[in-house]
Amino acid sequence: MRALRLLKWKSDPVLSEVSDPEPGPGEVLVRVGGAGACHSDLHVMREFEGGAPWGPPLTLGHENAGWVAALGDGAKGVEVGQAVAVYGPWGCGTCGRCRLGAENYCEDRDAAPLTGGLGADGGMAEYLLVPAARHLLPLPDGLEPAEAAPLTDAGLTPYHAVRRSWPKLPPGSTAVVIGAGGLGHIAVQILKATTAAKVIAVDLRPDALELARAHGADLTLPSDEHAAAEVRAATGGRGADVVLDFVGADATLRLGAAAARTVGDLTVVGIAGGTLPVSFRGIPYEVSVQTTYWGTRPELAEVLDLAARGLIRPRVTTYPLDRAMDAYHDLEAGRLTGRAVIVP
Ligand SMILES: [Zn+2]
Ligand SMILES: [Zn+2]
Repeated sequence: MRALRLLKWKSDPVLSEVSDPEPGPGEVLVRVGGAGACHSDLHVMREFEGGAPWGPPLTLGHENAGWVAALGDGAKGVEVGQAVAVYGPWGCGTCGRCRLGAENYCEDRDAAPLTGGLGADGGMAEYLLVPAARHLLPLPDGLEPAEAAPLTDAGLTPYHAVRRSWPKLPPGSTAVVIGAGGLGHIAVQILKATTAAKVIAVDLRPDALELARAHGADLTLPSDEHAAAEVRAATGGRGADVVLDFVGADATLRLGAAAARTVGDLTVVGIAGGTLPVSFRGIPYEVSVQTTYWGTRPELAEVLDLAARGLIRPRVTTYPLDRAMDAYHDLEAGRLTGRAVIVP
């Protein structure tokens, strides 16, 4: 089969011919119907050398959906031909976190397989080998694999970040989304679908702000030195109850801290690697600062439900597998609005 392979660190991945994977005991083979191109893949191909306990060669693609193609011995719970979304963070399955479905925070990494597309072979190929049937969630009616694929990361990651802050988002509250790209434009929709908060989107790119407005943002602001003051002005001087930073650079973290309300949340989802000095007068009182990574399996089921009911709808641009690098180049150049999905 054909697969988009990263052959060495600090290089562009290459469309390669590899042998079709065969499911071993407990494993499931999925025919890929869509594999999302994520900003973190760019970090993997450009910057990761030495930064991960795994390395090339590997097939990229960690947000995947498709159809069950074959079951290994003993694998059960899904049927051949069934449309499924693939829960991406593969944990050990038995530690305390995994038992709750939070395999994104598995505490026994030594007993867990490497994650597809981030260690093991991912979904930018005709087939994807999934280590256990529990990672496959049936697609509800009305959801095709190509549109479901981005929900497994670009949908699930912001959903987890929003959901954990639900108690701080009652009517009358304000949420700020910094970075209205692949994840951020879905974050706006998740906030609108699951809370009564007023939503403010902040981005450098006019296209991204337009996308956020089209998906229900109440206010959009260019990401500049005035943005924090504008957030305060729009909230009667109080600031935002919840700030979700999908960029994570020094400047956006600074903006997030300056825009947050006392007792608010500042949640860092973006992996740009910026830092935020925390000191007694550096951030508003009782602001909680946290990072999040991906989401839980039960949350993915909730995301799929929201999408099947039309309450969230990722903006998707599809690319065939042999043009997958165009998707990354478009993403890298800021030419992409919403999410790129590779359809093999
Ligand atoms: Zn990702
Ligand atoms: Zn675990």
